[in-house]
Amino acid sequence: MKVRTTDVVVIGAGAAGMMCAATAGARGREVVLIDHAEKLAEKIRISGGGRCNFTNLHVRPECYLSRNPHYCKSALARYTQHDFLKMMERYGLGWHEKTLGQLFCDQGSGAIIDMLKAEVDAGGATWRMNTPVTAVGRLGEGFEVVTPEETWHCASLVIASGGLSIPQIGATAFGYELARQFGLEIVATTPALVPLTFQPQDLWDELAGVAVEDAIVSTGKTHFREAILLTHRGVSGPAILQISSYWQPGQPIVIDLLPERGLADALAGASRDALLVNVLGDIVPKRLAQAIVATLGENRPLKQYTPKALQQLEDRLKRWQVVPSGTVGYKKAEVTCGGVDTAGLDSRSMMARQVPGLFFIGEVVDVTGWLGGYNFQWAWSSGFVAGSAA
Ligand SMILES: Cc1cc2nc3c(=O)[nH]c(=O)nc-3n(C[C@H](O)[C@H](O)[C@H](O)COP(=O)(O)OP(=O)(O)OC[C@H]3O[C@@H](n4cnc5c(N)ncnc54)[C@H](O)[C@@H]3O)c2cc1C
Repeated sequence: MKVRTTDVVVIGAGAAGMMCAATAGARGREVVLIDHAEKLAEKIRISGGGRCNFTNLHVRPECYLSRNPHYCKSALARYTQHDFLKMMERYGLGWHEKTLGQLFCDQGSGAIIDMLKAEVDAGGATWRMNTPVTAVGRLGEGFEVVTPEETWHCASLVIASGGLSIPQIGATAFGYELARQFGLEIVATTPALVPLTFQPQDLWDELAGVAVEDAIVSTGKTHFREAILLTHRGVSGPAILQISSYWQPGQPIVIDLLPERGLADALAGASRDALLVNVLGDIVPKRLAQAIVATLGENRPLKQYTPKALQQLEDRLKRWQVVPSGTVGYKKAEVTCGGVDTAGLDSRSMMARQVPGLFFIGEVVDVTGWLGGYNFQWAWSSGFVAGSAA
């Protein structure tokens, strides 16, 4: 077994790990980047449907969930979405905004990976892909990192091993286990940005695939207004993924299929002689209109419905309340909520307060962004901050 010495070992060559290795390398630190996966940064590759929604124009701390909502502020301010755009400009990469400030790479997610890899290489880091870490221990004021063929001794150890979502492409609980080994607390983890499942009685199986482009979904005091998609098992779509991060098991979600208008407004121009299903089919997708009318029992001309019946219909459209049975889990979740408790970390460096030299960055930390580029921005910002200190 060869024993080698370096300044910094980064475990996890994903979004945060590469940003950290590039930043530390640019400062002249000798860096080793270890990842057990064969392929580099698979999560970046599959992100944003292959186009990588790499940041958001409207990044702000309020778009992140954490036990300590202030923790992310310092890092997000020190390395902003505009800093990442400047790096893309240097590499000649283009971008476009799709919706709600979400920025996608014109050249696709592979170009983002190539850019980060080039930045890591420019800093002179040593790559160890396809390399599992078998043990980590404290060695004096530094650390010992054991892999099957080498043992690395380092002054700084950065954990960037990500969350639990999509185990098929290499997600593991490594970072949480290591945090516990060094006495840090873990905020309970749950799948987030994930489709919700319904009980069989709440499912409209025949409606799987129906999308409502504009809906408001709420739980408690939190709501999101975007599209929703009915599925075989429950509901999905951006508004549902967003609310899933806030949803607590046993709590209802409420779906408003007619944002900002009542049924009377929506029906204002409709012929009073038209059948309800046709009138409704102009307001919501036709298959959904048919299903809703079926639940009312009869399909009659609009004028034959009493105000009370229309009120019931409005309740169904604007206050569709369901208690989801759960989520589809980590296999389909975009991210993991919870993680290494920020109470044990310094927000200016990402370093463990009680273990000098040990850093946690990216998704493994209890900081979870909204859908729309916020999670990558956290990876870039926290990676930069740790790379500036490690
Ligand atoms: C389908 C999908 C689409 C997404 N799309 C977007 C999007 O468009 N925009 C956005 O902002 N966010 C998106 N996300 C979320 C985003 O990918 C993550 O938040 C981000 O990648 C987290 O960065 P990270 O560096 O912390 O972890 P990762 O990028 O997951 O990197 C962790 C690395 O650690 C390695 N690793 C894990 N365990 C070990 C171990 N035991 N030993 C060695 N190495 C290990 C992994 O192989 C991996 O390379 C998406 C996620 C998914 C699943």
